Amino acid sequence: MQPRLVDDFGRAITYLRVSVTDRCNLRCGYCMAGEVSFSPRRDVLTIEELEFLTSAFVACGIRKVRITGGEPLVRKGVLHLFQGLSRHLRSGELDELCVTTNGVLLSKYARDLADCGVRRVNVSLDSLDRDRFAEITSGGDLDAVLKGIDAAREAGLAVKLNAVAQKGYIEGDVLDLIQFAQERQLDVSFIETMPLGEVKTSCADRYLPLAELRQLIEGRWTLTDIDVTTGGPARYARIDETGGRIGFITALSDCFCENCNRLRLSATGALYTCLGHDDFTDLRAIIRREGGAVGLESAIRAAVAGKPRSHEFGTSPGREPALKRYMSALGG
Ligand code: SAM
Ligand code: SF4
Repeated sequence: MQPRLVDDFGRAITYLRVSVTDRCNLRCGYCMAGEVSFSPRRDVLTIEELEFLTSAFVACGIRKVRITGGEPLVRKGVLHLFQGLSRHLRSGELDELCVTTNGVLLSKYARDLADCGVRRVNVSLDSLDRDRFAEITSGGDLDAVLKGIDAAREAGLAVKLNAVAQKGYIEGDVLDLIQFAQERQLDVSFIETMPLGEVKTSCADRYLPLAELRQLIEGRWTLTDIDVTTGGPARYARIDETGGRIGFITALSDCFCENCNRLRLSATGALYTCLGHDDFTDLRAIIRREGGAVGLESAIRAAVAGKPRSHEFGTSPGREPALKRYMSALGG
């Protein structure tokens, strides 16, 4: 089938990430400041508005939707959104509906998510050491996340772990995380820390190029690059000894923008065509206008046409934050 949303650089846009809240039950140091001011409730889209807007993107040609946050599972009524969107899976208009979560509430939601047609869940997990996990997340309960991962697997969901590679932290955790993933046949991806927002743990202090992390991993396992994609930015390598996979998301050191297929919708209805730029299109204003959502499709298409060629984080994380917006506003 021909892609139906194509930007001015010829990239087919097939993937929408929808942030359903900017709130979260954790405070990871690289993502949020201690004192974040959240969007006023009147500005946040209702579940019905989120479903309406997401469905408009599906009608334009989006084939994959990821629900994210903040922490998506703290959003009241989030299951109604999954239930509503699952009709697009059944109709064949959508290939995939998935979710990125910190896993704290996953044991409560895993079964219902599976019932809504979710097949894959990304769980962010930076450490298997209780104290270090609590330090990174400002008090998070590792056991709740592990329980969530078990529940997701029992519900038949494919779980992928995502860990942010923070210098000074990840070196002590990387091998345990991979071992944990191998034992459960889970994929695991490592992400370079990006300079967004005035966060607690600055990117300049904590940036670690993934090539260095890979060297550490190769002290234990043999990695062979493989040509697979799961529709996101990770580049994968096979662990020869186990047959498992590791993803590397090299947002800074080896920018993957030329293959970018993504759009991002914030919980307040702002459409961002690039994580690394501040420009957005206010879709909330369009759908809350008297007389209905006239002009919505043309606004989406105009935004897509103007999608920037690349983020401008640069390869040196020294001048930061590159953007005032927090990662929690758009969900990665
Ligand atoms: N709360 C959910 C979670 O943690 O999975 C979803 C939202 S979170 C913003 C999405 C992803 O962004 C997580 O995997 C998180 O580790 C990652 N992230 C947050 N801040 C980041 C940063 N400064 N650089 C790179 N990745 C970041
Ligand atoms: Fe919350 Fe996810 Fe950001 Fe951590 S990375 S503070 S869990 S939104």
